[in-house]
Amino acid sequence: MMSEPDSASVSDDPARDAQYDETPDASAPRRRAGAKKTAAKAAEKAAAKTAEKTDAKDKPKLTKTADRLAKLGLHSAIDLVLHLPMRYEDETTLTPIGELLPGGVEQTEGVVFDNEVAYRPRRQLVVKLRDHNGDELHLRFLNFYGSQVAQMAVGKRLRVRGDVRGGFFGLEMVHPAVKVVEGDAPLPQALTPVYPSTAGVSQAYLRKAIDNALERAHLPELLPEPVAQEFLAPLNVPGLMDAVRTLHHPPIDADQNALIDGTHPAWTRIKFDELLAQQLSLKRAHEERRTRAAPAMARHVAGRKSEETLLARLREALPFKLTNAQERVVGEIAQDLEAPHPMQRLLQGDVGSGKTVVAALAAAQAIDAGYQAALMAPTEILAEQHARKLRGWLEPLGVQVAWLSGSLKAKEKRAALEAAALGTAKLVIGTHAIIQDAVEFARLGLVIVDEQHRFGVEQRLALRAKAQNAKSPDETKREFQPHQLMMTATPIPRTLAMTYYADLEVSTIDELPPGRTPILTKLVSDARREEVIARVRAAALTGRQVYWVCPLIEESETLQLQTAVETWETLVAALPELSVGLVHGRLASADKAAVMDAFSRNEVQLLVATTVIEVGVDVPNASLMVIEHAERFGLAQLHQLRGRVGRGSAASVCLLLYTGPLSLTGRQRLQTMRETTDGFEIARKDLEIRGPGEFLGARQSGAAMLRFANLENDAWLIEPAREAAERLLHEYPHVVTQHLNRWLGAREQYLKA
Ligand code: ADP
Ligand code: MG
Repeated sequence: MMSEPDSASVSDDPARDAQYDETPDASAPRRRAGAKKTAAKAAEKAAAKTAEKTDAKDKPKLTKTADRLAKLGLHSAIDLVLHLPMRYEDETTLTPIGELLPGGVEQTEGVVFDNEVAYRPRRQLVVKLRDHNGDELHLRFLNFYGSQVAQMAVGKRLRVRGDVRGGFFGLEMVHPAVKVVEGDAPLPQALTPVYPSTAGVSQAYLRKAIDNALERAHLPELLPEPVAQEFLAPLNVPGLMDAVRTLHHPPIDADQNALIDGTHPAWTRIKFDELLAQQLSLKRAHEERRTRAAPAMARHVAGRKSEETLLARLREALPFKLTNAQERVVGEIAQDLEAPHPMQRLLQGDVGSGKTVVAALAAAQAIDAGYQAALMAPTEILAEQHARKLRGWLEPLGVQVAWLSGSLKAKEKRAALEAAALGTAKLVIGTHAIIQDAVEFARLGLVIVDEQHRFGVEQRLALRAKAQNAKSPDETKREFQPHQLMMTATPIPRTLAMTYYADLEVSTIDELPPGRTPILTKLVSDARREEVIARVRAAALTGRQVYWVCPLIEESETLQLQTAVETWETLVAALPELSVGLVHGRLASADKAAVMDAFSRNEVQLLVATTVIEVGVDVPNASLMVIEHAERFGLAQLHQLRGRVGRGSAASVCLLLYTGPLSLTGRQRLQTMRETTDGFEIARKDLEIRGPGEFLGARQSGAAMLRFANLENDAWLIEPAREAAERLLHEYPHVVTQHLNRWLGAREQYLKA
């Protein structure tokens, strides 16, 4: 570290680095986790490339350099030029020690008059500064090197920058950034950029590399004049190279606040370009799909009576009439399935809105046309329940349904695999076991993914790859891809729909089946647990069924399991007159299925459960739900859990038990749950409370494309970016590729998942 070009700074201490060098940090808003695998691969490639071109003599050194930068995704000069500051530090002013105020970050200067290593309360270096007014400031270093003691020797003039605190002996700074300076050392005239970095790559090193690249790089304007006129001119933003220079080297007279909060026109320019790249990528993926072949699944076939189709017979056999909303989405899907290119449709509908039957009708259409359908669900309980329900509907109509899960016995599994491969099973239902290599389909025409937000990007990519490898149904060698229907109860807010999901068609069920009674939600302090137990007893004795959801313990699955078992034991003891079941993730699947079966037959009145029941479970007679430590759950999760009740005609109640003191966001979440049962409203609030990065969830945002634009503050730029993308695609297709390469490079593949 000492050999780094920034050795002018005497602070070599790791704690200081963490504070000031801003190694990447999950909480940094502009930096979303990059696509790890892709980055790593690209890094390998880049390193290999560098090595190829380099003389044997400087190989080790250059490879190391390239390696380090590659870790940050910086392979080319353009990458470096577009590696923009995540924030700025204002080092342009000095505050005299006597005017420092505790609570803020300040920069000041003074001469060391005392320097000692103290041992109480623990080993620490205390350096005392005094300025020409005679005011004093203490610097404290809890981790330090011997070299620092020497460099901050008595008599040295130090320029320090850090948090000012009121200490026991007056004002102090703990682990400030320190520079040894001469008496008249000039101050920087402009803001100092701070770059996203990683261990082993110092700010000074990055700055040098970037400045170097700025000299070499050409960053020509790619937008054709008419497009720039229409979309950039109204934004009043600088040219790209100008913008980039301003951001790397803010001019003295630049609006510093605007640079810092990202509203400066230079930032707007960058964000626009980035959003444009994202829109282009999504739209191109969308158009590409239209060029691919998929089986056309006609609903009406000449020579066949329409009332004899499976579709018609299934409709006839349903125990209820579809809602208008269901009819509408069934129509939208049916139309897509008839087209000869792959559907990619997202079906969103609140919990309990009846998505399963829509999936069944889509599957029936595929089967009518001579294809197989696959239905994938994120949990075994849900997949099992789908299997039970769809078998109940389809087997009486002569359709064979296969069930595939990781926990099947070898013999059963072989039978299921065979049925899928031979095509005797028309519908295959399962967990992600369905996407494993061993599974082959004879004529897979439709893939349905339930609760798609629960699957990670990798899993969706795997499914897509499987779909692409499927055999062509007409035995030609044409590339062929099944239709995809994704279902979710977590509606996607508009800004996300326009960005991350812009290549999907969306169908929405915005109406619940009739006869549902609204769920009443109450917040109850854990102190009133006895009353809650009494209420459970009363409900169960009048024939109602009850869920009791155990607290989420994120740190440890074992602990969570233990808590579930303990909760179950206490409730069994407290409620001897009831039959109490327990279901959790570690239960063998046969046992899980047995408990769920007993619950759906009302042989178990109270079901103690972990979040394994979060999605999909459907027992209409259950009308009371208790969620313990509700403050630990996320909004989407609470909404999903609550959706397990309110499915029958009885008035349902959800009791959210909480333990104080509540955090601000915890309180907001619980209040939202009390105020609304509308999934769209809850998703909107969720986005507001957590921000889109988290909303997407770590697993989905692993692919996040946006480094600079921020969906909360920059949503207004999405619409123009979208329109500009449209024009480029139609009128300037060659520019599209150039723009994408510049902004997305290797990341694009993830965007398509
Ligand atoms: P979700 O959208 O949460 O997956 P489900 O498909 O599990 O909802 O449906 C919830 C319940 O509503 C199920 O018991 C289902 O059989 C029932 N249901 C679905 N559609 C209708 C309808 N049109 N009329 C009455 N009940 C329906
Ligand atoms: Mg469902």
